Order: sequence, then structure tokens, then C-alpha cells
Amino acid sequence: MEFDQRYSLIKEGSRPEEIVLLQGKGCFWKKCNFCDYYTDVSDLDESTALNKAVLERVTGETGRLTVINSGSFFELPKATINQVYDLLEDKRIKDLSIESHLFYLSKVRDLRERLTTMGVDLHARIGIETFDEDFRENVLNKGFGKIDVKEVAQVFDECCLLFGIEGQSLEQLKRDLEIAQEYFKDIYLNIYTKRKNLEEDPKLVKEFMRELYPEIKENKKIHILLKNTDLGVGD
Ligand code: SF4
Repeated sequence: MEFDQRYSLIKEGSRPEEIVLLQGKGCFWKKCNFCDYYTDVSDLDESTALNKAVLERVTGETGRLTVINSGSFFELPKATINQVYDLLEDKRIKDLSIESHLFYLSKVRDLRERLTTMGVDLHARIGIETFDEDFRENVLNKGFGKIDVKEVAQVFDECCLLFGIEGQSLEQLKRDLEIAQEYFKDIYLNIYTKRKNLEEDPKLVKEFMRELYPEIKENKKIHILLKNTDLGVGD
């Protein structure tokens, strides 16, 4: 991935922010059938140096920073996490979004407490993908098991949904969006691009674009990512 694909500044729209795509040690799970992002890894020294250079681009001008990586925030090098803390203080950033697997729920809780003492609001994002448990666990292989959405939403306030995979339906997405809007502040709806063994369903995506997209595209809570580079980072 090119260095420039690791930083993005969004000035317009409902959510001005800076976004960095950093390198961690690779997701501990690595078993989701739609994802190969965890291959974005290198050894600790290289990752730390790369992350340092990316984070040096952050200006703090929007007051909001989103840090994503090839897994969960807690899988970033310790030095990188400390650099993020310093950045929040130095650039007076008041909102930090991170991504994390459900496995690290208690670490998210601890991080929120720590950031609160620094006057920073944590926005923790979880890739729920779908609330259809059978599809999430048996097709996507997300590794969450049975979840209590209410409990999850007490710790995570942003969620990602994934749509456009063979076997999904528009009804499933409508239900997912209903639940997500009830419990989460921000929803990232990702339209699937094949990266691993699950197949795309272009017919279903066309149906979505025709029937649902016009209805939800102005919804400020729902951020629709038609391509996986729509946030300006990644490849
Ligand atoms: S989707 Fe997330 S949890 Fe699943 S393998 Fe990819 S990085 Fe890991």
C-alpha cells in the first residue's frame, strides 16, 4: 500500500475528520471469510516507524481523529498508542474513533475511562456486519457468538454493517439498519468487494441502489461506503 493511502482529511459533510490507517501486529482472529486486511503487517520496528510517519501528518484541524488498522486498536504497537495519546493532547483533538473486535470489550471500556480524564470522547467502532446471527457466525465467521446488542452498544457507539454478499437479502439489510439506528450513533454501511472466499452479489447491490439507497443516502447517521476506499484510505 502507498504511504499516501494511509492518511485522509475529510473537510466537508456531516463528519469532518482526519483518518489514519496504521499498521498493527495483525488481527488476532484472522478468520472472517470476507477479510484479508490483517495481511497489512510488518515487524514491530517497521510498523512503529511507519505509524510514526503517518501520525506526523495529523494536524488536528477538524478536532476529530479516526484511527483504523489491520485489526483492533489494541493490536497497534505500544509506542504508536502512546503517540496517539500525545497527539490528542498536542493537537487538542477532542474526539477519537477507533475500531475493535468484541473480544477487547473490557479494553475499550478502560480506554474510554482513560480518555475521559484527558477530556477526549472515545467513539469505539465494532464490525457487527449483520445482526443476523446465523449469517454473521456461520457464513462470515465473525467469532462473536451470541451477542446482546444493548450491552454491546453500551461500550461501542459506532458499528459497521456489511452488505452485498451472496446469501444476503434486502430485507436482512433493512432489519440491520433498523437495529443499528436504534442502538448506535454512527453506522458505516460497507458494500462488499470480494477480498477473500465469499462471493459478491452484484444483482443484490443493484437492487439496493435502486430501492434503498435513495431513501438512506441523506441520513446523517448512516455513512455508505460503496467502495472500500471511500474514506480516502486503504487500497
Ligand atoms: S474483519 Fe476484523 S476481526 Fe475479522 S479477520 Fe478482519 S480484521 Fe480480523
